[in-house]
Amino acid sequence: MGKYDHIRYLKRTKARTTHQCDRCKDIVMPDEYYCVEAIDDKFLHSLHAKRFCAKCHEKYGESLLFPKKERKKMTEESGPLNNFR
Ligand SMILES: [Zn+2]
Repeated sequence: MGKYDHIRYLKRTKARTTHQCDRCKDIVMPDEYYCVEAIDDKFLHSLHAKRFCAKCHEKYGESLLFPKKERKKMTEESGPLNNFR
């Protein structure tokens, strides 16, 4: 668990330039949607924010941000996509 895990989330964003998905290494083209790691704190900015393509976000949801152990637990309890519906 990282120090800021409780305030980390994925923000859905429209790409302005190309990005590479940190999970599947797919390229996100401009005008496509992707998700970027964000921290819910105005004093904290993630300099190395992870980016994920829409496909990975659909598959894994918020669990993309968390280690394997947490991922399994989150999926069982609530489902990773609930925060986005
Ligand atoms: Zn991906």
